[in-house]
Amino acid sequence: MKKQAEFDPSRRQLLKVGAAAAALGAVVVTGLVAPRRAFAQAAMSKATAMYQDQPHGKDMCSNCIHFIPGKSKQAPGTCKVVEGSISPNGWCVAYAPKAS
Ligand code: SF4
Repeated sequence: MKKQAEFDPSRRQLLKVGAAAAALGAVVVTGLVAPRRAFAQAAMSKATAMYQDQPHGKDMCSNCIHFIPGKSKQAPGTCKVVEGSISPNGWCVAYAPKAS
């Protein structure tokens, strides 16, 4: 009889264990999800990317995988990794050519 009582947790003990598990879960989720979200939203400034409005030889934003075109071929667009308005004729150090 005494052994059964030793293994019979009280309701208060169960609540403490449950609260601790929930807190641990929150820490794990925060640690795993928040950095990914922050990484996905982060874009470099033009200065950090050493962006310029001119091409770098034949390399330019219009043939970079990160470029998102504007309304026309020569209209400014945006970039997946650099902030702000991006010229299709621009270039930066994050340039990555499209597969031809
Ligand atoms: S990564 Fe650089 S080169 Fe490529 S589109 Fe963005 S700004 Fe242009």
